[in-house]
Parts: sequence; structure tokens; C-alpha cells
Amino acid sequence: MLLAPVEYARPETVDEALGLLASTEGAAVLAGGQSLVNVLKHRVADVDLLVDVSRLGELRAIAAGGDGSLEVGACVTYDEIARSEAVRASHPILADVAAHIEDQQIRNRGTIGGNCCLSDPTNNLPPLLVALDATMHIQSASARREVAAEDFFVGYFATAVGEGELLATITIPAIPGDAGAGYHTVAVGADSKAIARAAARVQSNGTISDARVVLACVGPAPLRHAATEAALRGAPATVAAVREAVQSIGDDIEPLGDCHGSAEYRRAMARVVASRAVCEAISKGGVDHG
Ligand SMILES: Cc1cc2nc3c(=O)[nH]c(=O)nc-3n(C[C@H](O)[C@H](O)[C@H](O)COP(=O)(O)OP(=O)(O)OC[C@H]3O[C@@H](n4cnc5c(N)ncnc54)[C@H](O)[C@@H]3O)c2cc1C
Repeated sequence: MLLAPVEYARPETVDEALGLLASTEGAAVLAGGQSLVNVLKHRVADVDLLVDVSRLGELRAIAAGGDGSLEVGACVTYDEIARSEAVRASHPILADVAAHIEDQQIRNRGTIGGNCCLSDPTNNLPPLLVALDATMHIQSASARREVAAEDFFVGYFATAVGEGELLATITIPAIPGDAGAGYHTVAVGADSKAIARAAARVQSNGTISDARVVLACVGPAPLRHAATEAALRGAPATVAAVREAVQSIGDDIEPLGDCHGSAEYRRAMARVVASRAVCEAISKGGVDHG
């Protein structure tokens, strides 16, 4: 289906973009357009003005902090993240995940900000950013605010970004020296929708001292699994201990069953991906993250 007529603006600064968003009812941010344009073509959403922020230099930078932290502009594409030496040096898992999002055309256009602001529960980056303890920097014409990634994703296709606001940048703290990060997905087919996904950041030195374990595709938004994290803290960094800890993933999560798998199957797969992500994180612990 063809796109219905819609007004289009390409502001030259973030301030100009925010002014348009504040003053125009029915305005929407356009980033890579990979999801939004499809939604408009299918008449699922109605937008009066597309504010194209995809070329704004202020939203397109990757900056490495001296302490191993990272700042990524909302309009940096997956391909740019995958190829960035700064990302590879400090947060190689982010580069690896971005490098495997769908195909090259999607990676050329899709942006980290769009991936987060769409908040599709099957999108790749939200659970990883929650596991890495990222902070989302949101701006409007009159204010700036910060929201922890953990609180940013509020439901199916819903985030903390409100009317007249845009996501400007994402900051990710350094991965601690004794920590590693892991990520695992079970999907219908190699390139198809995910059934269950998990991301983890684990600190260990033989014994696990801290763990962030995030499940995705099993509810409306990425979910930190507190019981698994508690079971891991103080446990030996062994496969057996990890497998035991993820047994706490059970009826407390309520995935929707569909033609690709029942709710019970998704629960079982959530335990599998969580276990694999945590084991990967442990195996990468102590690696020099730059
Ligand atoms: C064929 C196909 C396969 C795909 N496969 C995958 C996959 O395997 N994994 C995956 O994670 N994704 C996948 N996607 C989704 C893709 O990654 C989208 O690009 C992404 O979800 C949205 O990013 P975008 O930059 O294109 O955003 P857009 O489509 O431009 O925008 C998406 C939404 O976010 C809002 N938005 C965008 N940027 C901002 C901002 N800075 N501030 C506020 N609001 C903003 C828009 O208003 C819109 O509501 C796929 C898409 C297609 C078409």
C-alpha cells in the first residue's frame, strides 16, 4: 500500500525539531523509518507531520568516555554501532548484537533510538540496554530528563517518551573489570521473530558478586528477573549453579502463547536463554573491556 499524503520536515537542529514537535499536533519523530513508514502505509497510525531527525549531527555521534563508558546518539544506525571501534573496545556485545539485527538494509537505516522508542517486545536492543544499566536522555523544547533504561520501556509499543519529546542520547556505563555480558535468543527460524531472549551482565571472581538478568519476548517490556539475580548473588560461577538459579523463572512471568509456542514453552525457553546468557557473561568476565 502507498503512503498516504503526509507533511514532512527536515529540521537542521534538535531545537528546531523540538519546536516542531511542541507546536504541531499530530507530529511524530521519524528516524530510520523502518517501522514507522510501514505502520503508516498500513494505515495503523495516523500522523500529520513527520519530523525527520535522522540526519541531525547532534543525534548521530558515538563518544567514548575515558572511564570506559559510552554515549550513543539516538540516530546512530545499527551498522554504525557494529562498525564502531569505540563500541567494540568498551561494549563489544552491543556491536555484536547490532551486527546481527536482520539484514544489511535494515542495519543501514534502523537506529538505536528508533529500536528503543518503538518498544516492540521482540526488538533486540531494549533488553541489552537494561542489562547494561543504560540511561536514556530525553529532551523537550523546555526540559531535559534522564530515565534508567529499566524504567524507559513501559509496555507494548510504549515508552517513557511523552508528547513533544524525543530521545536524544543513550549513555552506557563501563562494564566493570570483573564483569562480562551475555545475550541469547531462541527464534522461530534463523531470521525470524524471537520466542524468548535474555541479556545479562554478571560480576564474578569464582563466586558471583552481582548479576543483572533481563528477559524479553515474554511480556510487554524487558523484565529484570529479581529472583534469578538474587539466586545468583553469592553462588559459585558454575553452569550447575546458573541452571539452578534460573529455575526461579516460572509462573511469575506471563508470556502470551501463539502459533509459534505456548506460554509454557516460552517460559521453558526463557530459562534456557537466561542460563546461556548468564554463562556467556561469566565466561567473558575479567576480559579487558578497554
Ligand atoms: C523487515 C524488518 C525486519 C526487522 N527485524 C528486526 C529485528 O530482527 N530486530 C529488531 O530489533 N528490529 C527489527 N526490525 C525493526 C527495525 O529495527 C526498526 O528499524 C526499528 O524498530 C525502528 O527504528 P527506526 O530507526 O527505523 O525508527 P522509526 O521507524 O523511524 O520510528 C519507530 C518509532 O520510534 C519513534 N522514534 C524514533 N526515533 C525516536 C527518537 N529519537 N525519539 C523519540 N521517538 C523516536 C518514531 O516516532 C516511531 O514511533 C525490523 C524491521 C523490518 C522492516
